[in-house]
Amino acid sequence: MLLIDCPYCGPRNEEEFSCGGEAHIARPLAENPISDAAFGEYLFLRDNTKGVFLERWRHASGCRRWFNAVRDTVSHEFIEIYPMNSKPKSKAGKAAFAANWRRTTDAEAAAQKKGRKS
Ligand SMILES: [Zn+2]
Repeated sequence: MLLIDCPYCGPRNEEEFSCGGEAHIARPLAENPISDAAFGEYLFLRDNTKGVFLERWRHASGCRRWFNAVRDTVSHEFIEIYPMNSKPKSKAGKAAFAANWRRTTDAEAAAQKKGRKS
């Protein structure tokens, strides 16, 4: 049995949680058009990392709230748990965030820059 430390409820059995997949996939803003290939990359490509991975988790059978986690996919160790809309603070989490190929994509740039004012 694996215990996951819900930031809102405390440690609970892993069976109460569901994994929401890769974290920090920024949706491109509609007012910042990108190519179909770049949008397809945003929409369909996901990492399947062996090692430190940034994931979204939900306490499905508890508070039902979402949170992010830095997890080692080999040892299943949860290195850090942190709120949605924030970035990891641990050394391993910062390194995994910075090294992700997604940081340099057109979709990420289109999500970060402000939209046109109308
Ligand atoms: Zn909870």
